Amino acid sequence: PARAAEVRALIHDVPDYPHPPVVFRDITPLLADGPALADVIEAFAAVVASHDGVDVVAGMEARGFLLGAPLATRLGVGFLPLRKAGKLPPPVERVDYELEYGSASIELRSGTLRPGARVLLVDDVLATGGTARAAAALVERCGGVVAGLAFLLELAGLGGRDRLAGRTVDTLLRAG
Ligand code: IMP
Repeated sequence: PARAAEVRALIHDVPDYPHPPVVFRDITPLLADGPALADVIEAFAAVVASHDGVDVVAGMEARGFLLGAPLATRLGVGFLPLRKAGKLPPPVERVDYELEYGSASIELRSGTLRPGARVLLVDDVLATGGTARAAAALVERCGGVVAGLAFLLELAGLGGRDRLAGRTVDTLLRAG
């Protein structure tokens, strides 16, 4: 972002949420700030300009929707919500993935992704990379091409980039 320090200050670190010893990065204050939000969307658009074309933006539930949909509008392309299990009406395509405790699923409404479309995946935070890896697999299962993955904040040291090895990954900000 053009004003990275201001944007970073609007992402609040919340200790021990949702449970110790997790430090939760809360983007709510950033979303509430018009100029900062616009700055972030422009920074994502600049990332896209370095890609070999993006036909559609896909966002991971839920904060990927809040950043991905305005980016799609900015680019003049469509938006695909990648949803948690059971939120979309059938038919859906689904990918299951492992979490630290238990498992989760991510779903895309069948028929909404044009085969061969170049997809930019967007989310707020890259942590272990499990969610993003599953999202990329889902796009490819549906016949899309993953143009790249873009995140507002990368939590370095959790192995997210390693789990996305071989893919184009851009992060606007990094935290230790
Ligand atoms: P990962 O699958 O471990 O990379 O976790 C990334 C997913 O969890 C993303 O959808 C994030 O929105 C969410 N997430 C993980 N940690 C945080 C956090 O500290 N703040 C906000 N979202 C987070």
